[in-house]
Parts: sequence; structure tokens; C-alpha cells
Amino acid sequence: MDKIDIKSLNEVELLGLMNDLNQPKFRAAQLFKWLQQGIEGFDEMTNIPKSLRDALKEKCYIANVSIVKKFVSKIDGTVKYVYELFDGERIESVVMKYEHGYTVCISTQVGCRMGCSFCASGLDGLFRNLTPSEMLAQITKAQQDNGIRISNVVMMGMGEPLDNFSNSVKFLQLVSCDNGLNIGLRHISLSTSGVVSRIKDLKDYNFPITLSISLHAPNDEIRSSMMKVNKKWGVDELLAACKEYQGVTTRRISFEYALIEGVNDSDACADELAKKLRGLMCHVNIIPANPVKENSFKKPDMNKIIHFKERLIKKGINATVRRTLGADIDASCGQLRRKVKEGIGSENLQ
Ligand code: SAH
Ligand code: SF4
Repeated sequence: MDKIDIKSLNEVELLGLMNDLNQPKFRAAQLFKWLQQGIEGFDEMTNIPKSLRDALKEKCYIANVSIVKKFVSKIDGTVKYVYELFDGERIESVVMKYEHGYTVCISTQVGCRMGCSFCASGLDGLFRNLTPSEMLAQITKAQQDNGIRISNVVMMGMGEPLDNFSNSVKFLQLVSCDNGLNIGLRHISLSTSGVVSRIKDLKDYNFPITLSISLHAPNDEIRSSMMKVNKKWGVDELLAACKEYQGVTTRRISFEYALIEGVNDSDACADELAKKLRGLMCHVNIIPANPVKENSFKKPDMNKIIHFKERLIKKGINATVRRTLGADIDASCGQLRRKVKEGIGSENLQ
């Protein structure tokens, strides 16, 4: 019999479990609180009788992550983790400090099957989806390890959250529960490469999260050369879905645009982008592309990056260049996990 992933259950589902075990209803709320706070074993639940803890051990498991490697930036204190899951698979998370508090960037899958040409996460394809509990555990582990409370979450680590749709939705519901981590949905961003069918599904939940679209190019010719997903849903279809999404949620949409020299950094690209985004309440986040050793692309120099931003702003589009945190521990999105797999260390390793 497969054991139940108890940390992925909401309070109603825990009530059902308590009912099956002939337990009083109030136990469900107690369990939920313990689990969502990030305890790692049933015996840590001090207000739960031993008989129930034993029954739970038989029937259920608690999904945990363990720290395999930890890198701390000497520049800004950004912390990157490589976590190991129960089956030995590895994922990464990053904790960043901003004026308004701590933000964690979590992974939603082991690997990714979207295969974007510039990204390290997709190089080996998808291994498996993460459970809601494994997404939560990345937050609670980082909180415990640093003795902090995390106030913001970005689903921007390894994986495509909308390719793991039901688990990502359940995670959003759990993480924002009053009795759980209680991180408001307004403090959460979900980043997608543009899985249009799922953007439509997500719209129906009307979560007040920030939807972040990895656009990276203003037209199909360029975008399809970088992102396979664009062959299924082109730029116009994606932007139409964003418009529809905004029509329901009334939330500003964020567009990620990784500038790659000679690919998507021309004035014509900026102009076309500005034209296509007109009418959408949005913000463009320009990211200097992070070279991945398996690829040959380069990021443009800073003057070119600023020029691209200014050109968008002149055309009425809100744009900023993303601040690079943890530059000395490089390794964004999937790069760190590969390095650890290949046995490449870092002098910042703790
Ligand atoms: N799969 C989702 C979320 C994870 S990727 C998505 O694609 O949106 C998180 C962000 O990192 C995306 O905007 C992605 O395009 C960007 N990214 C991936 N590799 C990068 C690289 N080498 N340089 C800069 N940004 C990169
Ligand atoms: Fe997957 Fe996002 Fe990387 Fe594309 S950019 S391969 S969708 S993680």
C-alpha cells in the first residue's frame, strides 16, 4: 500500500483521515498546524497521543527535504540550496533578502520538459513532478536553517509550474492558509514559459498572485527559436490569454525578458515588444541572460541592456533591469543542480 503524503492534505482532507481513524475532529487542525509549520517527524507532534502518532506512521509519510549543499553569497547574503528528496532526486531553492523581507525561489519539478534553449533546468528533460508538500518543505527548511520568516515566494526555480498544474494549485492553497504558513497570495509569483491552456485554467481560480510570463521575444520567429512551447502557442495567442487572465484577476502581469546578445536585443525587438504589450497592465523585467556552459550565447553589455530598457520606457512600457543577487555563487535556474551532479564545488560552499 502506498503511504499517504500527509503534508499535501488540506484541513478538510485531514478531517476525512481523522474520521477514518475514529479520531475527534479537532485533531485535524492540530495536525495541519504541525505539518505546515514544517515538523519532520510524527514524534515531534507533542499534543498528539502516541497511539495516533503510531497509526499515522503506519499510514502516512511526511515529505521532507534535506540540505545537500548550501552556497552563501559574500556580496549580498543570498543563499542557494541544493536539496535532496526522499528518492535521492535533487532540486534547488534560493533565499534572497530585500528591504521588505525574505523571498524564496522554489522549484516545482525535478528537471523540466519544456526544453528552452537558454535554460539549464531542461537540459536533461523532466524527471518528475514535485508534490505540494515538497514545494512547502523548501520554504520551511530555508526558514529553519536561517532562523527567518519568509514573506514572499516566487515559483521560478527548476521546472514549469503549469506543467505540474494540480500540485502547484494545491501548493498555493496550502501555503496561504491562515493556519499554515499564511503567506498571502499577493506575495507569491508564478512564472510560466507560456502554457496557454493552463493559464486559462488558472484564471478560473482567480488567485491574486502575480503571473509572470517568460516572454523573451516579441515575435514567433525569435521566440520559437528559443522556446519549443512557442510552436504550440504563439506570441499572439499567449498575449491574448494574458489579456483574458487580466480581465478576471485585474492583476498586473509581469513579463520576463532575458536579453541575449544578437538574438533578442535589437531596437526593432524593443519596438515590437512595446507595440504588442500596449493595452496590457504590465511590467517588463529585463534579465541579463545567464550564460549556461552547454550553450554559446552571451549577455549584451550593460549599456545595451539599459538602452533596451529606456527604449521600452519611452514607448510607455514599464520596465526594469532585474538586480542580480548572488552573482558570486552564479548558478541560476538548474545550473546549480548540474554542477553538484558533476561534482564541481564552490569556494562559497558551507
Ligand atoms: N518554467 C518557468 C519557471 C522557471 S524558469 C518559466 O520558464 O518561466 C525561471 C526564469 O528563469 C524564467 O523566466 C526563465 O526564462 C529564466 N531563465 C532560465 N534560464 C535562464 C538563463 N540562462 N538566463 C536568464 N534567465 C533564464
Ligand atoms: Fe523549463 Fe522554464 Fe527552463 Fe524553459 S525556462 S526549460 S520552462 S524551467
